[in-house]
Amino acid sequence: MDTDASEPILKPYHRHHHDHHNSPTPVKASDALPLPLYLTNGLFFGLFFSVAYFLLHRWREKIRNSTPLHIITFPEIVGIVCLAASIIYLLGFFGIGFVQSCISRGSHDSWDVEEDNGGGCSPEEPPTCTLAPISRAKVVAPTIQEPFLSGDDDEVIKGVVSGTIPSYSLESKLGDCKRAAAIRREALQRMTGRSMEGLPLEGFDYESILGQCCEMPVGFVQIPVGIAGPLLLNGKEYMVPMATTEGCLVASTNRGCKAIYASGGASSVLLKDAMTRAPVVRFGTSKRAAELKFFVEDPANFDTLSVAFNRSSRFGRLQNIKCTVAGKNLYMRFGCSTGDAMGMNMVSKGVQNVLDYLQPDFPDMEIIGISGNFCSDKKPAAVNWIEGRGKSVVCEAIINEEVVKKVLKTNIDTLVELNMLKNLTGSAMAGALGGFNAHASNIVSAVFIATGQDPAQNVESSHCITMMESVNDGKDLHISVTMPSIEVGTVGGGTQLASQSACLNLLGVKGASKDSPGSNSRLLASIVAGSVLAGELSLMSAIAAGQLVRSHMKYNRSSKDVSKIPS
Ligand code: ADP
Repeated sequence: MDTDASEPILKPYHRHHHDHHNSPTPVKASDALPLPLYLTNGLFFGLFFSVAYFLLHRWREKIRNSTPLHIITFPEIVGIVCLAASIIYLLGFFGIGFVQSCISRGSHDSWDVEEDNGGGCSPEEPPTCTLAPISRAKVVAPTIQEPFLSGDDDEVIKGVVSGTIPSYSLESKLGDCKRAAAIRREALQRMTGRSMEGLPLEGFDYESILGQCCEMPVGFVQIPVGIAGPLLLNGKEYMVPMATTEGCLVASTNRGCKAIYASGGASSVLLKDAMTRAPVVRFGTSKRAAELKFFVEDPANFDTLSVAFNRSSRFGRLQNIKCTVAGKNLYMRFGCSTGDAMGMNMVSKGVQNVLDYLQPDFPDMEIIGISGNFCSDKKPAAVNWIEGRGKSVVCEAIINEEVVKKVLKTNIDTLVELNMLKNLTGSAMAGALGGFNAHASNIVSAVFIATGQDPAQNVESSHCITMMESVNDGKDLHISVTMPSIEVGTVGGGTQLASQSACLNLLGVKGASKDSPGSNSRLLASIVAGSVLAGELSLMSAIAAGQLVRSHMKYNRSSKDVSKIPS
């Protein structure tokens, strides 16, 4: 173990920097002197009180002797400098945490409720799980009521195994996320009698996921990232990172990019940008449910409702409200633009504001749930396919005959026919919902994982209809992908983690766009659609040319004898 369990209570503010070689750790005032922490603190405390005493003493003397206060001697100048230095040090060390703990004590965030039960988050509804930075700070901040655990690692592991120390509380009790993960992992191995060897623990910044991305970590899964590209889209080139363990996928997408590039590139249009949330409310009668429907859908009320909704964030802007009634129940689907965030948090907060605003005028409205599934998040649903959710994008390219022949090894007529019989007719026969494509979800998932998107939103983000048509008297192929619900963001969630943020950086869409908020996430959605276009083109060509099985045998089957791999 790399931390000293007997280190004093202040440890979280003076974290061990070697734990975080992956991310830059802010330099603290306490790092200035090469002394143990308690000596540095003692030194500055001593300095502060002795200098303060000296200066007050001098001040009193000056008043007694009627000496003007602005006449300052050299020892007094030194005293004032030392006082300022010690105040800066002590504020830098204790001040921030103290202010934060005061603020977080005052704010009634979800963590206050969740901490007791080990976290009441529903994975289906991420908004309530994501914590504001202040509440995250609270997890590691020491409190008088709950001092950090002392004792060596083995003692703590035994506590977790016996159940006296809840596993979920390790981060807050130890004040050291890496040590918490190591202890939890060892306890898990002892409890199950199974080894976790192979799942790495080292080389990950566990602080970066605290209260944000993953609870109770014991390590991290490695997924290789391959690069497809350049994808020539709207006149610009992008190297697309894809995290996958499926052989052929990156190679195939890369071939599609090559065909698009050789034909002059693809172009895309963003048709809509609106994340949605639909609460369900209940009334005593269907008539009352319908009255609220007519009220919120009345254009005359839109501005008033927008004002209430938009208070949630400077980026969330209400665009529309679409309602549906089921008996006495009303589902109101709020759509709003969310800047560079994927936006579920933002839209949920806005919806809550509107419900609070409506309640006095509709006192008989019973709020059953902030999400009533008419949203619809992470489930196949026609509403997303028809109305869109997140970014709706259409992307197209014209591939010339020569490229179809030389790069894709097939011909236009075969491709058009295959598309009609497979992606359109075949999917219709299968009763597909948004699945009128060859493998959009392959590309969507790989790009989502690489760039820190929510992989569960692959469900609706992969909705796609692929169209192919021969144009210019049969000399060129027009291919398009229409994707109505690509849910992506470049801030929040997993996008801030080191690896994912490196992939966003490669695409030039890292973080919030300063010039035009929302343009980074919109560009990312277009890149996703462009990559899907490349993937569709290549896989369809492989099937048309009868190459699919052959190339999978080449790329997916290594010469390793699977029977000899230890189980
Ligand atoms: P989500 O709504 O996708 O769950 P988060 O709430 O985790 O996202 O992150 C969005 C946060 O980022 C908000 O607090 C918002 O104020 C902030 N933010 C900063 N810059 C931007 C931007 N350009 N677009 C959207 N949000 C931004």
